[in-house]
Amino acid sequence: VGIPVDAALREWRTQANAVFALLVLFSTSLITLVVYVSRARNRLEGMVISLRQSAEALKQNNLRLAFAESEQRGLLTKLHTAVIVHGPDTQIIFSNARASVLLGLSEDQMRGKTAIDPAWCFVDTAGRRLTPQDYPVAQVISTLRPIVGMVLGVKTPDKEELTWLLVSAFPEIETGLGLKQVVVNFYDITRMREADERWRFALEGSGDGVWDLNLSTGDTLLSRQYQDILGFAPDEVPSNLKDWVQLYHPDDAARVKPLFLQYLQNPLGIYTAEVRVRCKDGSYKWMYTRGMVVSRGADNKPLRMVGTHTDISALKSAEAKIWNEANFDSLTQLPNRRLFYDRLDMQLKQAKRDNAMLALLFIDLDHFKEVNDTLGHHVGDTLLIEAAQRIKDAVRAGDTVARLGGDEFTVTLTEQQASSDIASVAQKIIDLLSAPFSLGGSESYVSASIGIATYPNDALTVNDLVKNADQAMYAAKTAGRKGFQFFTSTMQESAIRRMALAADLRRALALGQFAVHYQPIVEFDSGAILKAEALVRWHHPERGLVSPAEFIPLAEDIGAIHEIGDWVFQQAAEQVAQWQKRYGADFQISVNKSPLQFSGERRDHADWIAQLQDLGLAGKSIVIEITEGVLMNNNAKVASCLMQFQDAGIQVAIDDFGTGYSSLSYLKKFDIDYLKIDQSFVRNLAPDSADYALCEAIIVMAHKLGLKVIAEGVETTAQRDLLHKVGCDFGQGYLFSRPVPSQDFEKLLGQRGDFRDTTLTPSPTHSTPERKP
Ligand code: C2E
Ligand code: MG
Ligand code: MG
Repeated sequence: VGIPVDAALREWRTQANAVFALLVLFSTSLITLVVYVSRARNRLEGMVISLRQSAEALKQNNLRLAFAESEQRGLLTKLHTAVIVHGPDTQIIFSNARASVLLGLSEDQMRGKTAIDPAWCFVDTAGRRLTPQDYPVAQVISTLRPIVGMVLGVKTPDKEELTWLLVSAFPEIETGLGLKQVVVNFYDITRMREADERWRFALEGSGDGVWDLNLSTGDTLLSRQYQDILGFAPDEVPSNLKDWVQLYHPDDAARVKPLFLQYLQNPLGIYTAEVRVRCKDGSYKWMYTRGMVVSRGADNKPLRMVGTHTDISALKSAEAKIWNEANFDSLTQLPNRRLFYDRLDMQLKQAKRDNAMLALLFIDLDHFKEVNDTLGHHVGDTLLIEAAQRIKDAVRAGDTVARLGGDEFTVTLTEQQASSDIASVAQKIIDLLSAPFSLGGSESYVSASIGIATYPNDALTVNDLVKNADQAMYAAKTAGRKGFQFFTSTMQESAIRRMALAADLRRALALGQFAVHYQPIVEFDSGAILKAEALVRWHHPERGLVSPAEFIPLAEDIGAIHEIGDWVFQQAAEQVAQWQKRYGADFQISVNKSPLQFSGERRDHADWIAQLQDLGLAGKSIVIEITEGVLMNNNAKVASCLMQFQDAGIQVAIDDFGTGYSSLSYLKKFDIDYLKIDQSFVRNLAPDSADYALCEAIIVMAHKLGLKVIAEGVETTAQRDLLHKVGCDFGQGYLFSRPVPSQDFEKLLGQRGDFRDTTLTPSPTHSTPERKP
C-alpha cells in the first residue's frame, strides 16, 4: 500500500505545484492587467480632455478667422489699391471698389468672371497682346509662385486708351488642401507711365540713346534710339552691364572703369564719360555718356542709374581735324610752330632724364622770297613742299622736322652725339636744298642757312635753345648764306647788343638823336647837283654815329620804322622847300622808304602827299626810293600806294638795282622814273669788264623803258667817265661828296654848281667813314 500512497502523494504534490505556479502566474497577470487598465483609463481621460480643449480652441479660432476675413474684406473694399481675389478655378470671388473703377465693371459684373475671360484684353509694355496663359492669375495658378510688379496695359470697355497697371499676384495655399485663392492687387500707373514716356521722349527726342541700369543685378535697358545709333536689332542689344561693356573700345573700357567705380563710391552730380562703342558693322562710334543715380538702398548704396548716350562721332572727328589744323602746317603737313614747341619741350625733358644731348637746327631758306615774289605764291608753295621733303630725306625717321612759318624750318636731333655728326646732317640738308627745284617748267635755286644750338652745352631751356639756334642761323646768313654755324657765346653778345640798341632806338626820336644828311646827285652831262638823297643818321649818346645799315633793319623789326620814316620825310620836305626857293624849283630830294612801310594799315603815303601840299610843293619835289622787292611783292596795297604817289606827281626810284630778283616787266607796269644802279656794279667798273657790260645793258634797257639812270657809289673819275660814256644820266658817290648835314650841302651847292671836271675828295666836314656793308 505504501508505494501507491507515495506515488499518489508525489503526483498530488506535482499537481499542487503546478496549480500554485498557475495561480502565481494568474495573480501577476491580473495585477498587470489591473495596472494597465487603470493607466489606460487615465490616458483616455487626458485625451478626452485635450480633445475637448482642441475642439474649443478650433471653434474659437474659426470664429477669429471668420472675423478677420470679414474685417479684411471691409478694409479691402475701402482700399485705394485695386484688389481682386480669384478662386483656384480663376473665377473672381471678390473684388473691391477701386478694381471696379479701374476695370470699368461693377462688383456684380466682376463676380463670376474668370481671369481668362475673353472680354479682358491685356498687352505688355511692348504693346503685344498677352495670351491667356501669360495672364498673371493663370501664371500664379500654374506655378504657385507670386508675381510682383508686372506692368500691363488693359483695354477696358469704357475707355478708348489703354489703362496701365502695375500688377502683383499672390497665391494663398492651405496646407494639405493646395491653392485656396489668388489675391491680385494693382495700381493705375497710366499717368506715371505717361510721365516716364514723356521723359524718355524728351531724352530720345534729342537724338540721344537712353540707358537704365540696375546696379545690383547689372540688368541694363538700352533704348530704341541707342539701338538705332549702333545699328542693332532690338534682340541684339546687350541686356546686362557685362555684355554692354564688351561693346566698349578696350582702351576706353580700361580708362572709364575706374572713373565709373569712383563715381559710385560717392555718386554726387552727374557721371560723364567719352567712349568709343562698337557698332554692329564693327566700326566704332564716339559716345558721350551722362548718367546719374536715381535710387539708393537703405545703406545709401546706389541701386539704379539712368542716363543718356549721345553720338559725338562727328564732333570728335571735327575735334581731330581742328587739332590737326592747330598743330600741323597745312601746306607741308609738318608739325607747326605750336607742336614743335610742345615736342621740343618733351624731348628736352626726356634728354634731361636720360642725361642725353639734343641738337636743334634752325633752317632758313636763302633767296626764297625772291622766288616767291617773282614766280608767285603758288610756285613758292610748291617749293616749300619740296623743300620740306628734302629736309625730311636728310634726317632719320625719329628726328623731328617742323615748319615754323614762312621759309623757316627746324630739325631736332635727339640721338647724335658728336658735333661732327650734327655738322654732317646740316651739310646734307644744305646740299639737298641747293639742288635745283624744277617749278612750273623752269628751274629755281635756293639754298639754306642753318644755325645749330645744343642741349646742354648752349642752352638748358626750350626758349634759350630756339633763341640761340636762331642767332646762329642769323650768323650763318651774315656769313654769306648757304652754310651752317654752331652757336657761340659771341653771337649771344651781339644779340644782347642788338637788344640794348633796340631799347635805345625806341627813345631816340623823342630824344632828338636823329639827323638827316644829304648826298648830292650830280647830272653827268652838266656836272650840276640837281638832286640830293636824304640819309638818316643816329647820334647815339655812347656809341657815337650808328650806321643806318645797322639800325634800319632793327627799326623794321621793332616797328619803329614808321615814325622814323615819317620824320625823315618831313625833314626832307621842309628842306626841299627851302632849297627850291634858293636854287630853283626843279631841285629834288629822294627819300628811302623801306618795304615794311608799305605793310600794315597805316596810310602814311596820304599824309606825305598832304604835307607836300601844305608846304606848297609840287609832287615832283620828292622822289621815293624803293627796292626791287617792294615791286615784286604782289601786294595790292603797294600797287595802290605807288599809284597815289604817281597821281600826286611824286617820282619813284628803284634803289640798289641789280642786287635783287628783278623782273623788267614790273618796271613798266609801275611806271618807274629812275633806276639806281647798285654800287657793287660800279665798284669794279673797268673797260671790258663784265660789270661794265652789265651797266651798259641796264642803262640801254632803262632808257628804252623811259627811265633815267643814277649810278651809286661813284668814287673815281674813271668810274664817272665810263658811266657817262655809256649814257648814264646821274651819279652819286664819294667822288662828289659824302652825305653831309644840310648847311654843308648848301656850301656844296653855293661853291660849285658844276662838277663836270671834279676830282673832289671826301668833304672835310664829315670825317666818319661811311661804308655800305
Ligand atoms: P642807300 O639808299 O642805297 O643809300 C646809299 C648808301 O650808300 C648810303 O649809305 C651812302 O652813304 C652810301 N654811299 C654813297 N656814296 C658812296 C660811295 O661812293 N661809296 C660807298 N662805299 N658808299 C656810298 P648809308 O647812309 O649808310 O645808308 C645805308 C642804307 O640805309 C641806305 O642805302 C638805305 O637803304 C638805308 N637808309 C638810310 N636812310 C634811310 C631812311 O631814312 N629810311 C630808310 N628806310 N632807309 C634808309
Ligand atoms: Mg637809297
Ligand atoms: Mg642804294
